[in-house]
Amino acid sequence: MRVMPRFAAVTLALAVASAANAGGLVEPRLRLKHADHAPRVALTLDACGGATDDRILSALVENRIPATIFVTGKWIKRNAASLAVIHAHPELFELENHGGRHVPAVDTPRKIYGIPSAGSAEAVSAEVESGAAAFAATGETPPKWFRGATAQYSPTAIALIRKLGYRIAGYSINGDGGSLLGATEVARRLASAKDGDVIIAHINQPKHAAGEGVVKGLLALKEKGYTFVRLNDAETEGSDGTTE
Ligand SMILES: [Zn+2]
Repeated sequence: MRVMPRFAAVTLALAVASAANAGGLVEPRLRLKHADHAPRVALTLDACGGATDDRILSALVENRIPATIFVTGKWIKRNAASLAVIHAHPELFELENHGGRHVPAVDTPRKIYGIPSAGSAEAVSAEVESGAAAFAATGETPPKWFRGATAQYSPTAIALIRKLGYRIAGYSINGDGGSLLGATEVARRLASAKDGDVIIAHINQPKHAAGEGVVKGLLALKEKGYTFVRLNDAETEGSDGTTE
């Protein structure tokens, strides 16, 4: 039997991914609006829970690479030392809301990548508001952007989160496949970013190989002359009514 060509495998994977969304969930895209200058990208990093990948955090500081970091209430409680590093570099880092407990912002009961959704409008609101409450408790600047766990939403949850005053952060490059990809593939994905891309990767898995790839990919982009911009410093355009 012939081995499936690589592109066919990719097509199949995309078809499976679309099927997973057949229940009406959306995974919004976000890009930077075109501006007339050197190619630039936005780096967004999710801190879902657990620890901090210091390989990434220290590389950002050493190489002066700005980033928007989406943190959960759970992560804020357990990572005081990393927060101190982030606070020491306000010119590099901004923190935004990744929810209180890392529950997908979907208002019907279901599982996404095996994680039970919030399941109701009230529970989606609670996830967003408890994330904001964790910011308030530690004196962080109030968040303006929200990104739900798994980055998938029901359209009604998107409308609800917008009503709570947030823009919703999609992305255009999935840099690390939920932090599960190998270092070489992660580096390749990041290094392939084009002007205007918004990259998503994770900064809470210090033991995964993906983090090494994040650092390599960022340094490759920097080497090529790319600049990095935070979401609040750029004009953005999101799909599915997430930013307009
Ligand atoms: Zn997450």
